[in-house]
Amino acid sequence: MLIVQKYGGTSVGDLERIGNVASRVAKAKKEGHDVVVVVSAMSGETNKLVGYAQHFSETPSAREMDILLSSGERVTSALLAIALSEMGFPALALTGRQAGIYTDDVHTMARIEHIDNTKMKSELAKGKVIVVAGFQGITEDGTVSTLGRGGSDLSAVAVAGALNADLCEIYTDVDGIYTTDPRIEPKAKKIEKISYDEMLEFASLGAKVLQNRSVELAKKLNVNLVTRSSFNDNEGTLITKEENIMEKPIVSGVAVDKNQARITLRGVSDKPGIAAEIFSTLAKNNVNVDMIIQNVGEDSSTNLGFTVPENELEKAKEIMLELNAAAHLEFDSDIAKVSIVGVGMKSHSGVASRAFETLAKENINIEMISTSEIKISMVVAEKYSELAVRALHNAYEMYK
Ligand code: ASP
Ligand code: MG
Repeated sequence: MLIVQKYGGTSVGDLERIGNVASRVAKAKKEGHDVVVVVSAMSGETNKLVGYAQHFSETPSAREMDILLSSGERVTSALLAIALSEMGFPALALTGRQAGIYTDDVHTMARIEHIDNTKMKSELAKGKVIVVAGFQGITEDGTVSTLGRGGSDLSAVAVAGALNADLCEIYTDVDGIYTTDPRIEPKAKKIEKISYDEMLEFASLGAKVLQNRSVELAKKLNVNLVTRSSFNDNEGTLITKEENIMEKPIVSGVAVDKNQARITLRGVSDKPGIAAEIFSTLAKNNVNVDMIIQNVGEDSSTNLGFTVPENELEKAKEIMLELNAAAHLEFDSDIAKVSIVGVGMKSHSGVASRAFETLAKENINIEMISTSEIKISMVVAEKYSELAVRALHNAYEMYK
């Protein structure tokens, strides 16, 4: 097999850990696989470099930032290649440029445009392990670019796609994706297989294991992704096409996001253009609105409620006060969003009613509801959110 293995910052956090990664790569080589490794910078390194730049300027040039930040990943790629060669596994470190990763020229937030895989292929054919510095590429005019924070995941998926790899393993410090947060529900289980779409829902609901853009790219390029820990030998979670999952439970997991706040506008005039004005002003100010509920109007006025991330509440508050679009405004940050996610929902009825009954039995009031094809989200009082998670987790058969 051709395997792409990506190691995150904590997995290469010090020299000893880089040595452990080398042993892991060597093991895959001994098993007969071709291996391309993509590495992050040692943990904390990128933040340290950002801090260095800020010592001189609050607005450093993005082009120079890319030259600076890309150095973190170069350090780890070179060290790992040196360690591997010393262990008797010839390895070659490649910068983004040398790996043929071409991006647009949006410095610090570049998008990968194409990958010229010639160099990687010819070195693989010689039996070498390739160690690519993640998070970086090269613009058409030859300057270094970086892909945005957390971008090494994206490098790994793109490289796996460009080489048509059999598998892309993302190594972190957690074992995989769980049916829910084990700190809230000790009965949570690790999920063996999950679809791209479910993973995207989990990621946008706050599961920080994988960068969202990398899951989107994996789906587009049809790359089989595995997330697992570099600190043990446990099997991780496979993220793959829905068709590859034979037995789909109705609900594959329960997610909770406590970092939510709600704004309620009462007495909003019920005429065209009001919602457009409210939400375009919020968008212009980079407030991320999630759930929106508008009631049926009465006497030419209506009520409107929506949620925003808690740390954007102050900004949203100011905007709402300035817009003066409602007779009354209410703000509540003691709420949480609890969601159930599962592709199996598409073909089953009664999933939502079961969720509502489950919360009713626990006497938990549902304050807002929103659904998609594979997700049901409910806003509840934050103090009941963990109880809600446990109750919902109990109410459905999850992956085993
Ligand atoms: N080192 C970069 C960051 O900290 C990229 C990555 O680790 O994925 O954002
Ligand atoms: Mg990362």
